Amino acid sequence: MEQGLQIFLDGQFVPQSEAKVSVFDHGLLYGDGVFEGIRLYNGKIFRLDQHLDRLFASARAIMLTVPMSKAELTDACREACRRNGLQNGYIRLVVTRGVGYLGLSPFKCKQPSVFIIAATIELYPEEVYRNGLKLITAATQRVNPAAISPSIKSLNYLNNILAKIEAIQAGTVEAIMLNSSGHVAECTGDNIFIVRRGRLETPPISAGALNGITRGVVFELAEKMKVPVTEANLTRYDLMTAEECFLTGTAAEIVPAVSIDGRVVGGGQPGTLTLKLTEAFRKLTCSEGTAI
Ligand code: PMP
Repeated sequence: MEQGLQIFLDGQFVPQSEAKVSVFDHGLLYGDGVFEGIRLYNGKIFRLDQHLDRLFASARAIMLTVPMSKAELTDACREACRRNGLQNGYIRLVVTRGVGYLGLSPFKCKQPSVFIIAATIELYPEEVYRNGLKLITAATQRVNPAAISPSIKSLNYLNNILAKIEAIQAGTVEAIMLNSSGHVAECTGDNIFIVRRGRLETPPISAGALNGITRGVVFELAEKMKVPVTEANLTRYDLMTAEECFLTGTAAEIVPAVSIDGRVVGGGQPGTLTLKLTEAFRKLTCSEGTAI
């Protein structure tokens, strides 16, 4: 873990060693809160506006009032990058329900807490981007959208963590999660795409996927490349017989997947379209963003 970071915590910057939240914070007691993971490339924050919009939407869905405006959060994210001398990195923006009492009621928590960690991240080793990821299907289903909407990016990640444990126990790092109908929802921290007959296909949000910002960027890039994209319910069979498969996420970016439950996908190597999209994605991240 990095040391000596300056952390934004409830309106001010404090040294990492002093950046602490209460044991009575409902973010900790109940996972009651929302967050975003955001990337900084070449001194510019990628798609900050979209991340903040999703944060406010997640907060609204759980009746949590973010105690800062979008403009204030933008400034705080920029400043967090500057204070930590970052040009490339990863920003974790968290809003918790705040300090309350024992008992679930969020309405007894008087003041939500906001903190921002600007640091660096490497999600997967470089080798994975070159040779591709081996996926398994988790027995743990994605949480039912009728219980908690997967569109809410909340602090409640236990469902995903259980699937992640399965992946690691099986000797890999990422798992496919199905919904209660047996359709593919997403992976534990990434969206999933396949290439079939030259088209891109990805599960719809209604299948239990987070509305990923990187997923949206891939839609844009595909449109520019005149590659059709369909949101369709996908089964494990569809994945296993696809020409290509890849995952998308802010931290992961675009990651090729080359095997699923022991079945080789396509040629067993990162696919042509996956590599083309990765190149276009990298170009885009270098060229746009909110300057710090
Ligand atoms: N699904 C889940 C469950 C996630 O946590 C994330 C973010 N890590 C994603 C998908 C990808 O979303 P984004 O591209 O916005 O990072």
